[in-house]
Amino acid sequence: MEVTQGKEFHIKSGDTVYVISGKEKGKTGKVIRILRDKRKAVVEKLNIVKRHARPSQKNPGGGIIEKEAGIHISNLMIYCTKCSRPVRIGRKRLSSGEKIRYCRRCDEEIKS
Ligand SMILES: [Zn+2]
Repeated sequence: MEVTQGKEFHIKSGDTVYVISGKEKGKTGKVIRILRDKRKAVVEKLNIVKRHARPSQKNPGGGIIEKEAGIHISNLMIYCTKCSRPVRIGRKRLSSGEKIRYCRRCDEEIKS
């Protein structure tokens, strides 16, 4: 795994996130991809944009494609399914050496 800017995002692909600002504010969704250089996360069914596509081999007629645009990482929080709310997360290392992220509110491990 590559690390840029020496800093890991608090959000990973597969996480359930809560949008704290922007047009999708207050919604939750699942992260399907991280756009590392743009510091954005693509969240399933959120921030859909319509694009006019030129005809291509795959899509000979061209037309309009609906696609998720990324949401900036700073506008997202981890959503704890146990607390049923967005939460701050912490990181800790288990005695097994495994590093995990956990909910600071209920202490539950955040798995993606
Ligand atoms: Zn929690």
